[in-house]
Amino acid sequence: MSAKLIKGTEIGEQILEEITAEVGKIKEERGIVPGLVTILVGENPASISYVTLKIKTAHRLGFKEVQDSQPVDISEEALLALIEKYNNDDSIHGILVQLPLPKHIDEKKVLNAIDPDKDVDGFHPVNVGRLMIGGDEVKFPPCTPAGIQELIVRSGVETSGAEVVVVGRSNIVGKPIANMMLQKGKGADATVTIVHTRTRNMAEHCKRADILIVAAGVPGLVKPEWIKPGACVIDVGVNRVGEKPSKNDPNKMVAILKGDVDFEAASEIAGFITPVPGGVGPMTITMLMRNTLRSMKFKLGI
Ligand code: NAP
Repeated sequence: MSAKLIKGTEIGEQILEEITAEVGKIKEERGIVPGLVTILVGENPASISYVTLKIKTAHRLGFKEVQDSQPVDISEEALLALIEKYNNDDSIHGILVQLPLPKHIDEKKVLNAIDPDKDVDGFHPVNVGRLMIGGDEVKFPPCTPAGIQELIVRSGVETSGAEVVVVGRSNIVGKPIANMMLQKGKGADATVTIVHTRTRNMAEHCKRADILIVAAGVPGLVKPEWIKPGACVIDVGVNRVGEKPSKNDPNKMVAILKGDVDFEAASEIAGFITPVPGGVGPMTITMLMRNTLRSMKFKLGI
């Protein structure tokens, strides 16, 4: 392997330590800590494990953390009232509603009810608009794209003037990361192309990329010959391709995860590459924590 491995686990840990230090300092000076509430509706096992991880991380950083679990048959009206309660709670700086929600609830209506100044996921239309404007307007960059940008910057990869190709145009990854790389300033100033299922000659676009960001959800989509020698390859894809016995408990099966890039072959050509798992994945929760801290700092005017 010739590419330098971009380890999200290590970079994420470094950022969590920075957040812990800042939280401790603000607490000492002002007696206030960031508050994060996660609202979980029902008992979907995957949602429970995501929420548990978020709450555990918030706790570790010294945040006030609230896990508000609601029954699967909660009415839309009651859920909206709950969000309003947290919108008006001064000790809460970030509100997160774990998706998916049960079918009788309008997800869009619920997400749009979150105060944009507490929308630490960055999905509210107001925050999407702020991200598009860029610069000082941006309050909460969405977590996975923010994590990608942080990995690139902290790995010392030059973005100014770079050709960035993004594979995928979803609202949670492709479109926001393309927009972020296009903005003026540090970690951006790139020339950006987005490719998707209707793109002609996808390989030709990818071959131009100094930074190739792949978020398609198709295992092994990007072939090694599509990669420019020395390029930085960020593989966002997380695909379950099978099962294997767990290292800790051989009687338990765990998922085999693969990215959207043929990792082994690509790492012989790329200059930098993220592994799956352990690349982009750990950055998402880290950035959620950073956004919650940002929210409190905006409120304090610091
Ligand atoms: P998504 O909403 O399904 O969007 C996938 C995008 O990829 C679409 O724009 C689609 O194009 C494009 N695409 C799919 N197949 C393609 C192909 N053969 N050629 C070109 N473009 C193709 O997915 P997402 O939510 O952005 O997630 C993408 C991947 O990232 C998934 O594996 C997901 O699990 C992973 N992910 C990881 C994290 C994390 O690590 N924290 C967070 C979010 C997502 P069209 O628009 O034309 O259909």
